[in-house]
Amino acid sequence: MTFSEIDYQFKGMIILTVDLHIHTTCSDGLRTPEETVKEALEKNIRAVAITDHDITTGIDLAIRAAKNTQLEIIPGVEINSVWDNEEVHILGYYIDVESNSLQSELEHIRQARQTRAENIIKKLQALNYDISIEDIINLYGNGAIGRPHIARALVRKGYYMNTGEVFDRLLARGGKAYVERYKISPFKAIEMIKDAGGIPVIAHPGIYKQEVNWRQIVEYGLMGIEVFHTKHDTKTTNELLKIANKFNLLITGGTDCHGIGSSSLLGTIDIPYEVVLRLNEIRS
Ligand code: AMP
Ligand code: ZN
Ligand code: FE
Ligand code: FE
Repeated sequence: MTFSEIDYQFKGMIILTVDLHIHTTCSDGLRTPEETVKEALEKNIRAVAITDHDITTGIDLAIRAAKNTQLEIIPGVEINSVWDNEEVHILGYYIDVESNSLQSELEHIRQARQTRAENIIKKLQALNYDISIEDIINLYGNGAIGRPHIARALVRKGYYMNTGEVFDRLLARGGKAYVERYKISPFKAIEMIKDAGGIPVIAHPGIYKQEVNWRQIVEYGLMGIEVFHTKHDTKTTNELLKIANKFNLLITGGTDCHGIGSSSLLGTIDIPYEVVLRLNEIRS
């Protein structure tokens, strides 16, 4: 056995890696919940949180696929909010997916996503792109429609080489087909998660342009920080660790994987299972 094989076994079986930020085809990920479970098992990952944007349908599918396996599925959600003109995402862990209040709020947000997509499509049509909302729904369903779906459709139709290019040219803020999103505040997102018995955690704070007003968001009930994330460098991670300690917040982490196959990030950060134990301590 080579050193790298021993190291791999050590990582997989003893450290027990988890990944608490994953998107599936239920929102804008490329991998189904079932494929996510399969890949997580192959990678010896101990727990995965399904955190789709504004939708929870992937959770049950993943739980069913992971039944009688070593893999634990943590129910989650990622809610997009706007704070001081900047997008801030709030993750919710161990939400009760049956919660009526949460589901009706999410339904409302998804309706607004569809309206936004329709308005983006109108702008694209005015720019002479041959695309319709039916194209998007036929290809990707109408669960939680997002800009990545529109970008992928334009790539499929041969207008662009990749989705990054579509964002740069059309869909990013300031782009020719940009449409503002329906705005809810991070405080509202925190309230929705707490009302459904969940644990609110700020997603990838290292990528925001403005410094988070930590005192204020903690006052509103924030309970954790996503310290480990694929877009956080070591310096950012260390700064966030200090903030988590200062405000007595939970430390979480995940890859925010949207991809599949060679573009999959699942399990590429070693996050110890202890994070899941801590989440469970807070829950009880
Ligand atoms: P939406 O929820 O419709 O506002 O779309 C946001 C999603 O688009 C994010 O979760 C990312 O997955 C993706 N995204 C945002 N900016 C870019 C970009 N510049 N290139 C590719 N994907 C992006
Ligand atoms: Zn996304
Ligand atoms: Fe996010
Ligand atoms: Fe995400």
